[in-house]
Amino acid sequence: MANSKLEYIWLDGYKPTQTLRGKTLIKKDFSGKLEDCPMWSFDGSSTEQAEGGASDCLLKPVGCYKDPGRAGDSYIVMTEVLNADGSAHESNGRAMIEDQDADFWFGFEQEYFIWDPETNLPLGFPLGGYPPPQGPYYCSVGAKNAFGRDIVERHLEMCLEAGIEIGGINGEVAAGQWEFQGFAKGAALAGDEMWIARYFLERCAEEEGLAINWHPKPLGPTDWNGSGMHANFSNGLMRECGDQATFEKICQAFDGDRIKPHVAVYGADNDKRLTGLHETQSIDKFSYGVSDRGASIRIPIGTVEDGWKGRLEDRRPASNADPYKVAAQIVKTVKSAC
Ligand code: MG
Repeated sequence: MANSKLEYIWLDGYKPTQTLRGKTLIKKDFSGKLEDCPMWSFDGSSTEQAEGGASDCLLKPVGCYKDPGRAGDSYIVMTEVLNADGSAHESNGRAMIEDQDADFWFGFEQEYFIWDPETNLPLGFPLGGYPPPQGPYYCSVGAKNAFGRDIVERHLEMCLEAGIEIGGINGEVAAGQWEFQGFAKGAALAGDEMWIARYFLERCAEEEGLAINWHPKPLGPTDWNGSGMHANFSNGLMRECGDQATFEKICQAFDGDRIKPHVAVYGADNDKRLTGLHETQSIDKFSYGVSDRGASIRIPIGTVEDGWKGRLEDRRPASNADPYKVAAQIVKTVKSAC
Protein backbone atom coordinates (compact mmCIF):
# COMPACT_ATOMS: atom_id res chain seq x y z
CA MET A 1 0.00 0.00 0.00
CA ALA A 2 1.00 3.56 -0.51
CA ASN A 3 2.76 5.68 2.02
CA SER A 4 0.62 8.05 4.10
CA LYS A 5 1.83 11.43 5.33
CA LEU A 6 0.85 12.26 8.90
CA GLU A 7 1.58 15.82 10.02
CA TYR A 8 1.76 15.81 13.82
CA ILE A 9 1.04 19.28 15.14
CA TRP A 10 1.41 20.62 18.69
CA LEU A 11 1.70 23.79 20.74
CA ASP A 12 5.18 24.86 21.80
CA GLY A 13 6.20 26.36 25.13
CA TYR A 14 6.68 29.96 24.00
CA LYS A 15 5.46 32.58 26.44
CA PRO A 16 3.25 34.45 26.62
CA THR A 17 1.79 33.19 23.33
CA GLN A 18 2.30 29.60 22.22
CA THR A 19 2.80 28.87 18.54
CA LEU A 20 2.13 25.84 16.38
CA ARG A 21 4.78 23.32 15.44
CA GLY A 22 4.51 20.32 13.15
CA LYS A 23 6.54 17.47 11.68
CA THR A 24 5.79 14.67 9.29
CA LEU A 25 5.61 10.95 9.96
CA ILE A 26 5.47 8.56 6.99
CA LYS A 27 3.37 5.51 7.73
CA LYS A 28 2.65 2.46 5.60
CA ASP A 29 -0.80 0.87 5.48
CA PHE A 30 -2.35 3.60 7.61
CA SER A 31 -6.06 3.17 8.38
CA GLY A 32 -6.79 6.90 8.75
CA LYS A 33 -8.06 6.29 12.28
CA LEU A 34 -6.96 8.08 15.43
CA GLU A 35 -6.33 4.81 17.30
CA ASP A 36 -3.74 3.86 14.69
CA CYS A 37 -1.73 7.07 15.14
CA PRO A 38 1.29 6.12 17.28
CA MET A 39 2.67 8.21 20.12
CA TRP A 40 5.67 10.21 18.96
CA SER A 41 8.30 12.44 20.51
CA PHE A 42 10.25 15.62 19.77
CA ASP A 43 13.12 17.69 21.08
CA GLY A 44 11.53 19.87 23.72
CA SER A 45 14.73 21.89 24.18
CA SER A 46 14.07 23.49 20.78
CA THR A 47 10.54 24.60 21.69
CA GLU A 48 11.01 25.95 25.22
CA GLN A 49 9.48 22.76 26.64
CA ALA A 50 12.52 20.98 28.14
CA GLU A 51 16.15 21.39 29.17
CA GLY A 52 18.86 20.02 26.88
CA GLY A 53 19.87 17.30 29.34
CA ALA A 54 16.47 15.56 29.27
CA SER A 55 14.84 16.95 26.19
CA ASP A 56 12.33 14.34 25.03
CA CYS A 57 8.67 15.36 25.15
CA LEU A 58 5.85 13.10 23.98
CA LEU A 59 3.16 13.81 21.39
CA LYS A 60 -0.11 12.08 22.21
CA PRO A 61 -2.54 12.03 19.26
CA VAL A 62 -6.00 13.40 20.13
CA GLY A 63 -7.51 13.96 16.69
CA CYS A 64 -6.90 12.76 13.13
CA TYR A 65 -8.21 14.68 10.11
CA LYS A 66 -7.68 14.55 6.35
CA ASP A 67 -5.14 17.10 5.15
CA PRO A 68 -6.65 18.44 1.92
CA GLY A 69 -3.75 20.82 1.35
CA ARG A 70 -1.18 18.13 0.70
CA ALA A 71 -0.78 15.67 -2.16
CA GLY A 72 -1.33 11.95 -1.64
CA ASP A 73 -2.87 10.23 1.36
CA SER A 74 -2.31 12.97 3.93
CA TYR A 75 -3.50 13.67 7.47
CA ILE A 76 -3.25 16.26 10.21
CA VAL A 77 -2.81 14.69 13.63
CA MET A 78 -3.60 17.04 16.52
CA THR A 79 -1.57 16.10 19.55
CA GLU A 80 -1.11 17.17 23.14
CA VAL A 81 2.31 17.45 24.76
CA LEU A 82 3.22 15.11 27.63
CA ASN A 83 6.35 14.89 29.75
CA ALA A 84 8.57 11.84 29.27
CA ASP A 85 6.78 10.16 32.22
CA GLY A 86 3.39 10.53 30.52
CA SER A 87 2.07 13.35 32.70
CA ALA A 88 0.61 16.49 31.08
CA HIS A 89 3.24 19.09 30.20
CA GLU A 90 2.73 22.50 31.83
CA SER A 91 2.21 24.04 28.36
CA ASN A 92 -0.70 21.67 27.71
CA GLY A 93 -3.89 23.77 27.85
CA ARG A 94 -6.03 20.86 26.70
CA ALA A 95 -5.26 19.01 29.93
CA MET A 96 -6.79 21.92 31.90
CA ILE A 97 -10.28 21.12 30.63
CA GLU A 98 -12.16 19.44 33.48
CA ASP A 99 -15.19 18.45 31.50
CA GLN A 100 -14.45 16.11 28.61
CA ASP A 101 -18.04 15.38 27.61
CA ALA A 102 -19.98 17.03 24.82
CA ASP A 103 -22.45 18.93 27.02
CA PHE A 104 -20.59 22.24 26.54
CA TRP A 105 -20.77 23.70 23.04
CA PHE A 106 -18.36 26.36 21.88
CA GLY A 107 -18.40 28.72 18.93
CA PHE A 108 -15.27 30.83 18.50
CA GLU A 109 -15.19 33.89 16.24
CA GLN A 110 -11.55 34.02 15.21
CA GLU A 111 -10.37 37.38 13.88
CA TYR A 112 -6.92 37.80 12.34
CA PHE A 113 -4.84 39.93 9.99
CA ILE A 114 -3.17 38.65 6.85
CA TRP A 115 0.31 40.09 7.20
CA ASP A 116 3.09 40.83 4.76
CA PRO A 117 6.41 39.93 6.44
CA GLU A 118 8.33 42.08 3.96
CA THR A 119 6.53 45.34 4.73
CA ASN A 120 5.55 44.25 8.25
CA LEU A 121 2.07 45.59 7.49
CA PRO A 122 -1.34 44.06 6.85
CA LEU A 123 -2.14 43.08 3.30
CA GLY A 124 -3.65 46.15 1.63
CA PHE A 125 -1.56 48.68 3.53
CA PRO A 126 0.67 50.78 1.26
CA LEU A 127 4.33 50.98 2.25
CA GLY A 128 4.99 53.97 4.48
CA GLY A 129 1.36 54.90 4.94
CA TYR A 130 -2.19 53.91 5.61
CA PRO A 131 -5.09 53.01 3.36
CA PRO A 132 -8.29 55.09 3.71
CA PRO A 133 -9.76 54.86 7.25
CA GLN A 134 -12.04 52.09 8.46
CA GLY A 135 -15.52 51.96 7.06
CA PRO A 136 -15.50 50.27 3.65
CA TYR A 137 -13.63 47.05 4.54
CA TYR A 138 -16.12 45.09 6.67
CA CYS A 139 -17.82 42.43 4.51
CA SER A 140 -16.51 44.21 1.42
CA VAL A 141 -16.12 43.05 -2.15
CA GLY A 142 -13.70 44.30 -4.80
CA ALA A 143 -9.94 44.73 -5.01
CA LYS A 144 -10.11 48.27 -3.56
CA ASN A 145 -11.32 47.02 -0.16
CA ALA A 146 -10.97 43.24 0.10
CA PHE A 147 -7.40 41.97 0.40
CA GLY A 148 -6.40 38.30 0.45
CA ARG A 149 -9.62 36.58 -0.50
CA ASP A 150 -7.73 33.75 -2.27
CA ILE A 151 -6.17 32.74 1.03
CA VAL A 152 -9.42 33.04 2.95
CA GLU A 153 -11.32 30.93 0.41
CA ARG A 154 -8.65 28.23 0.24
CA HIS A 155 -8.62 28.06 4.03
CA LEU A 156 -12.39 27.66 4.19
CA GLU A 157 -12.29 24.90 1.58
CA MET A 158 -9.53 23.03 3.45
CA CYS A 159 -11.43 23.16 6.75
CA LEU A 160 -14.66 21.92 5.19
CA GLU A 161 -12.90 19.14 3.30
CA ALA A 162 -11.10 18.04 6.46
CA GLY A 163 -14.41 17.89 8.35
CA ILE A 164 -13.76 20.87 10.62
CA GLU A 165 -17.05 22.59 11.41
CA ILE A 166 -16.92 26.20 10.21
CA GLY A 167 -20.03 28.36 10.62
CA GLY A 168 -18.94 31.10 8.23
CA ILE A 169 -16.33 33.66 7.26
CA ASN A 170 -16.36 37.43 6.73
CA GLY A 171 -14.18 40.39 5.92
CA GLU A 172 -13.52 42.42 9.08
CA VAL A 173 -13.45 46.10 9.99
CA ALA A 174 -9.77 46.81 9.28
CA ALA A 175 -8.08 46.42 5.91
CA GLY A 176 -6.50 42.97 5.59
CA GLN A 177 -8.51 41.68 8.58
CA TRP A 178 -10.81 38.65 8.33
CA GLU A 179 -12.75 36.26 10.54
CA PHE A 180 -13.75 32.61 10.56
CA GLN A 181 -16.19 31.00 12.97
CA GLY A 182 -15.50 27.56 14.41
CA PHE A 183 -18.00 25.41 16.30
CA ALA A 184 -17.85 22.13 18.18
CA LYS A 185 -19.71 20.15 20.82
CA GLY A 186 -17.22 19.54 23.62
CA ALA A 187 -14.57 21.93 24.96
CA ALA A 188 -11.57 19.79 23.99
CA LEU A 189 -12.89 19.13 20.49
CA ALA A 190 -13.57 22.85 20.01
CA GLY A 191 -9.97 23.59 20.94
CA ASP A 192 -8.61 20.84 18.68
CA GLU A 193 -10.51 22.10 15.66
CA MET A 194 -9.65 25.76 16.26
CA TRP A 195 -5.96 24.92 16.40
CA ILE A 196 -6.15 22.83 13.25
CA ALA A 197 -8.04 25.65 11.49
CA ARG A 198 -5.32 28.07 12.59
CA TYR A 199 -2.67 25.69 11.28
CA PHE A 200 -4.40 25.45 7.89
CA LEU A 201 -4.66 29.23 7.74
CA GLU A 202 -0.96 29.71 8.44
CA ARG A 203 -0.13 27.26 5.67
CA CYS A 204 -2.47 28.90 3.15
CA ALA A 205 -0.78 32.24 3.83
CA GLU A 206 2.71 30.71 3.74
CA GLU A 207 2.10 29.48 0.19
CA GLU A 208 1.73 33.14 -0.86
CA GLY A 209 4.76 34.31 1.13
CA LEU A 210 2.44 35.83 3.74
CA ALA A 211 1.84 35.27 7.44
CA ILE A 212 -1.08 35.47 9.88
CA ASN A 213 -0.84 38.05 12.63
CA TRP A 214 -2.76 36.84 15.69
CA HIS A 215 -1.88 39.83 17.88
CA PRO A 216 -4.99 41.49 19.39
CA LYS A 217 -3.83 45.01 18.49
CA PRO A 218 -1.18 44.66 15.77
CA LEU A 219 -1.50 48.29 14.64
CA GLY A 220 -0.95 49.67 18.13
CA PRO A 221 -2.96 52.46 19.75
CA THR A 222 -4.54 53.68 16.52
CA ASP A 223 -8.11 53.86 15.34
CA TRP A 224 -7.64 50.53 13.57
CA ASN A 225 -9.64 47.72 15.14
CA GLY A 226 -7.96 44.96 17.09
CA SER A 227 -8.68 41.24 16.72
CA GLY A 228 -10.71 39.16 19.13
CA MET A 229 -11.89 35.62 19.51
CA HIS A 230 -15.39 36.01 20.92
CA ALA A 231 -16.35 32.81 22.72
CA ASN A 232 -19.96 31.69 22.39
CA PHE A 233 -20.88 28.96 24.82
CA SER A 234 -23.75 26.95 26.20
CA ASN A 235 -24.37 23.80 28.15
CA GLY A 236 -27.43 21.59 28.27
CA LEU A 237 -28.95 23.62 31.10
CA MET A 238 -28.62 26.91 29.18
CA ARG A 239 -30.10 25.38 26.06
CA GLU A 240 -33.11 23.98 27.94
CA CYS A 241 -33.85 26.05 31.05
CA GLY A 242 -36.04 28.86 29.65
CA ASP A 243 -35.27 30.89 32.72
CA GLN A 244 -33.80 34.40 32.91
CA ALA A 245 -32.63 33.90 36.51
CA THR A 246 -30.33 31.04 35.50
CA PHE A 247 -28.68 33.22 32.86
CA GLU A 248 -28.29 36.10 35.35
CA LYS A 249 -26.71 33.72 37.84
CA ILE A 250 -24.24 32.42 35.27
CA CYS A 251 -23.30 35.93 34.13
CA GLN A 252 -22.80 37.06 37.73
CA ALA A 253 -20.49 34.09 38.37
CA PHE A 254 -18.01 35.71 35.94
CA ASP A 255 -17.79 38.88 38.07
CA GLY A 256 -15.64 39.69 41.14
CA ASP A 257 -12.87 37.20 41.95
CA ARG A 258 -13.40 35.47 38.63
CA ILE A 259 -12.44 38.42 36.44
CA LYS A 260 -8.71 37.77 36.94
CA PRO A 261 -8.49 34.04 36.12
CA HIS A 262 -10.49 34.64 32.94
CA VAL A 263 -8.46 37.60 31.75
CA ALA A 264 -5.25 35.66 32.57
CA VAL A 265 -6.03 33.14 29.81
CA TYR A 266 -7.75 35.49 27.36
CA GLY A 267 -4.55 36.33 25.48
CA ALA A 268 -1.37 38.41 25.84
CA ASP A 269 -1.55 42.17 25.22
CA ASN A 270 -5.33 42.00 25.47
CA ASP A 271 -5.22 45.15 27.62
CA LYS A 272 -4.31 47.03 24.44
CA ARG A 273 -7.53 45.82 22.83
CA LEU A 274 -9.97 45.87 25.77
CA THR A 275 -9.85 49.60 26.33
CA GLY A 276 -13.56 50.40 26.48
CA LEU A 277 -13.42 51.66 22.88
CA HIS A 278 -14.06 49.86 19.55
CA GLU A 279 -16.96 47.77 20.90
CA THR A 280 -15.06 46.48 23.95
CA GLN A 281 -15.35 46.67 27.72
CA SER A 282 -12.22 47.65 29.73
CA ILE A 283 -10.10 44.67 30.72
CA ASP A 284 -10.45 45.29 34.47
CA LYS A 285 -14.23 45.80 34.43
CA PHE A 286 -17.02 43.29 34.06
CA SER A 287 -20.50 43.85 32.67
CA TYR A 288 -23.17 41.91 30.84
CA GLY A 289 -26.28 42.85 28.94
CA VAL A 290 -28.75 41.89 26.25
CA SER A 291 -27.39 42.75 22.79
CA ASP A 292 -24.66 44.88 24.39
CA ARG A 293 -21.49 44.80 22.27
CA GLY A 294 -19.74 47.06 24.76
CA ALA A 295 -20.23 44.48 27.54
CA SER A 296 -17.85 41.73 28.66
CA ILE A 297 -20.58 39.14 28.16
CA ARG A 298 -23.34 39.74 25.65
CA ILE A 299 -26.68 37.98 26.01
CA PRO A 300 -27.65 37.52 22.36
CA ILE A 301 -31.16 38.71 21.50
CA GLY A 302 -31.81 35.26 20.03
CA THR A 303 -31.32 33.68 23.46
CA VAL A 304 -33.96 36.04 24.92
CA GLU A 305 -36.39 35.62 22.02
CA ASP A 306 -36.13 31.84 22.30
CA GLY A 307 -37.47 32.20 25.84
CA TRP A 308 -34.09 32.33 27.62
CA LYS A 309 -32.67 29.28 25.93
CA GLY A 310 -29.32 29.19 24.18
CA ARG A 311 -25.89 30.72 24.37
CA LEU A 312 -23.91 33.53 25.91
CA GLU A 313 -21.03 35.35 24.26
CA ASP A 314 -17.89 36.25 26.20
CA ARG A 315 -16.45 39.08 24.09
CA ARG A 316 -13.16 39.40 25.95
CA PRO A 317 -10.92 36.60 24.57
CA ALA A 318 -8.26 37.96 22.20
CA SER A 319 -7.36 36.58 18.79
CA ASN A 320 -4.15 35.08 20.23
CA ALA A 321 -5.81 33.30 23.17
CA ASP A 322 -5.57 29.52 23.48
CA PRO A 323 -9.10 28.18 22.88
CA TYR A 324 -8.36 25.22 25.18
CA LYS A 325 -7.61 27.51 28.11
CA VAL A 326 -10.51 29.84 27.33
CA ALA A 327 -12.93 26.90 27.21
CA ALA A 328 -11.46 25.35 30.37
CA GLN A 329 -12.02 28.56 32.34
CA ILE A 330 -15.54 29.10 31.03
CA VAL A 331 -16.51 25.52 31.89
CA LYS A 332 -15.16 26.01 35.40
CA THR A 333 -17.07 29.25 36.02
CA VAL A 334 -20.37 28.07 34.54
CA LYS A 335 -20.18 24.89 36.64
CA SER A 336 -19.60 26.97 39.76
CA ALA A 337 -22.90 28.77 39.11
CA CYS A 338 -25.13 25.79 38.41
MG1 MG B 1 -15.89 39.87 14.15
